[in-house]
Amino acid sequence: MLQQTRVPTVLNYYPRFLHRFPDPASLAEAPEDEVLKLWEGLGYYSRARNLMRGAKYICEHFHGELPSEPDLLLEIPGIGPYMAGAIASLAFDKPAPAVDGNCIRIYCRLHALPLIPAEGSTYKEIYSRVLADIPEDAPGDFNEALMDLGSLICTPKSPKCETCPLNDQCSAFLLGKQEDFPLKKEKKATPIEEHTILKIFTGDKILVRKRPSTGLLAGLYELIDLPGNLTHAEVQTWLLENFPALASQCELKSGSAPAASDTTKGFPLDESAPDIRPLGKSRHVFSHLRWEMIGYEIHLNAADKNTQKKLIANASELGEIVSPKEYQALAFASALRAYR
Ligand code: SF4
Repeated sequence: MLQQTRVPTVLNYYPRFLHRFPDPASLAEAPEDEVLKLWEGLGYYSRARNLMRGAKYICEHFHGELPSEPDLLLEIPGIGPYMAGAIASLAFDKPAPAVDGNCIRIYCRLHALPLIPAEGSTYKEIYSRVLADIPEDAPGDFNEALMDLGSLICTPKSPKCETCPLNDQCSAFLLGKQEDFPLKKEKKATPIEEHTILKIFTGDKILVRKRPSTGLLAGLYELIDLPGNLTHAEVQTWLLENFPALASQCELKSGSAPAASDTTKGFPLDESAPDIRPLGKSRHVFSHLRWEMIGYEIHLNAADKNTQKKLIANASELGEIVSPKEYQALAFASALRAYR
């Protein structure tokens, strides 16, 4: 949970999660939806799925017990070199380095190494230096000290060198160039995606979809999500195309389906048309991507029971229709919090 997430946020999740899943076996047997629900709002959901895969692997290959050797830990899905080193040293007193961005930054500064953190050769260089330094009798304390130093004192910006216990041996500090190390990679602009989020009601029920099992926000629920930031009129056009029952209802009532241009000044045109209410704009920033969203709440108005049935059939082709209670229980992408 602490990968990419700060301790104060995790404190709201960790005890609840551990209470429900106290060992690998209970997590391995749990339904994915339940695990994702307990993770809801914490972000980086691949961590939750990796935990499940890891728990299954531990049960299948290590009799439900976490191994102590870094090489064996590395076999477990979701555990990379940093995690393997951290577990082996902190939990089992093995002299295994745990090299992450904090550790790389500290070592680059200590030795004034002009290295770029993301490069593979940098990792190898720092790993071998940490391996040479790590004490046999207190490897966990050593790694934990590096973690604390990196998060509290040797921070990326404005490191607190005056209070740093290593300042008398830090080359970058002695040169007065702490922030010049490590070298910075040129930043690429964050890609932006535009989305239109539709919260569609038929009566009091809501139309939702489950995202694919791989990729961004995999396995979480979402509302209808269309590419681009659509206008009110464009949303109406999409509705008439995807809910033919709605179009024929409007045709029956007024002789022809309402043209998109008729609706720019507002909706509904009459009581048979869908009620489209703007929910405003919202933004969500992922680590590698930014979503710029606009939302609409839509109430599909059926003039009669027959049309209502057809609207529900149309909606079922787009996703699942759930009751308000079911809706509350679903694990939703936190990117959609503004429209939830
Ligand atoms: S002296 Fe400053 S730059 Fe050097 S390790 Fe300490 S905090 Fe980091």
